Amino acid sequence: MLSLQFLGAAGQVTGSKYFLRTATHRGVMVDCGLFQGGRELREMNWNPLPIQISDVANVVLTHAHLDHTGYLPRLMKSGFKGQIWCTSSTYDVAQFILRDSAHLQQEDALHANHHHFSRHKPALPLYTPEDTEAVLGLFHVQDRHKKKILPDDLSFEYSNAGHILGSCSILMEKRFAESEGGHAPIRVLFSGDLGREKPIYLVHREAPPAADIVICESTYGDKLHHPVAPSDELLGIMKEAIASKSVLVIPAFAVDRAQELIFCLHELFRDNQIPSVPVFVDSPMATGVTALYEKYPDEHCIPCDLMQQPGENPLSFPSLKFTQTPEDSKHLNELKGPAVIISASGMATGGRIMHHLINRLPDPNTIVLFTGYQAEETLGRLLMEGAHSVSIFGENIKVAARIQTLTNFSAHSDQREIMDWLKQIPAPPKRLFLTHGEDGPRKVLKELVEKELGWNVAMPKLNEIVDLTTIS
Ligand SMILES: [Zn+2]
Repeated sequence: MLSLQFLGAAGQVTGSKYFLRTATHRGVMVDCGLFQGGRELREMNWNPLPIQISDVANVVLTHAHLDHTGYLPRLMKSGFKGQIWCTSSTYDVAQFILRDSAHLQQEDALHANHHHFSRHKPALPLYTPEDTEAVLGLFHVQDRHKKKILPDDLSFEYSNAGHILGSCSILMEKRFAESEGGHAPIRVLFSGDLGREKPIYLVHREAPPAADIVICESTYGDKLHHPVAPSDELLGIMKEAIASKSVLVIPAFAVDRAQELIFCLHELFRDNQIPSVPVFVDSPMATGVTALYEKYPDEHCIPCDLMQQPGENPLSFPSLKFTQTPEDSKHLNELKGPAVIISASGMATGGRIMHHLINRLPDPNTIVLFTGYQAEETLGRLLMEGAHSVSIFGENIKVAARIQTLTNFSAHSDQREIMDWLKQIPAPPKRLFLTHGEDGPRKVLKELVEKELGWNVAMPKLNEIVDLTTIS
């Protein structure tokens, strides 16, 4: 027996969690993410998982993003005592992400209690910094292209997914003993989040291996990214900000997106395409992650010698400042344009960006620039869709700022890039499960794969269980 249960990212883009169960009832969880977005989604994080937590012997992570790792402290609080596997760089990035998440959980609970806008009295954090420190002690590092044998005749091997620092696809294999019916081995390929065909500086994703079952993300299953180079797109907005002496406020994911923006701004300033303006990175997490690029030179194409030369390092230039303390962050409230503030989180769901938005959204001389996917019901999505006023921490904020979106900075493959990845799989799988996408995009992708490749494609529902040994 080998069953696969879809515990998240089934009809949504967040909460990635899969459970592969063997005949012993134990098994492996692949990714362990938080649901993010509107209240209904966030409240799903409080529901107990429909599995026995003691059955989870191991967790194998594709990458460090919160929607793939953020449930881990909660899993541990619910009784998980196994091991958590990831690449070394994922471990380093995950430390920032999980600590930040615990901090935000606490802050949200405090805000909710202070302003009395929670339905729970008192509002509690999903987990605390102590829980996060405890779960970080369960992590183990596994390199790409090295097979790791797990209990119950399961094994896995990582390959590069090119999505963020450390990101991987996972090929999981289950062998069956005679006592289990002697079924032929089943290989299950988890795409993880798939990166771009031409990343800004990350090492290109690898071609996928052959597999019997494929679970593939479908975030942009119905969209094509604009064929404009990301720095060209940014150039247009920067020219506008400089001409109107605006402050450009960029909610950016702290991992890779913030660094990509810094990298592209460096290029524009270095090549004198625009005059140099002050750029502030106001996110302790983005600051910490930026330092990891020197530690992992094999994961990106920024030459090491360049990174060590003052003035030449594309992730550090004279007008770039990393703010440290909350006081430094508050001082930015007085900042006059033209200037750039890069702050997290990328979907404006928490972090220092919230204070910048409270301060700057009512100002028509502000440009708020979104640079990536905005999940349903997030503040980012509301602003992108043209809301005239929004509620932040229970306060009604008028939106007079100009809202813009950079379309080509996405760290996710678009429809064509997903199709190209699928076509590289050496032989058609017996079944393709589309996950990590809202139902509209994944339905479009399903129909395209069926038409172009003739594969058997499924759109699993949340908590659905599929017996993989019956798929032929
Ligand atoms: Zn991701």
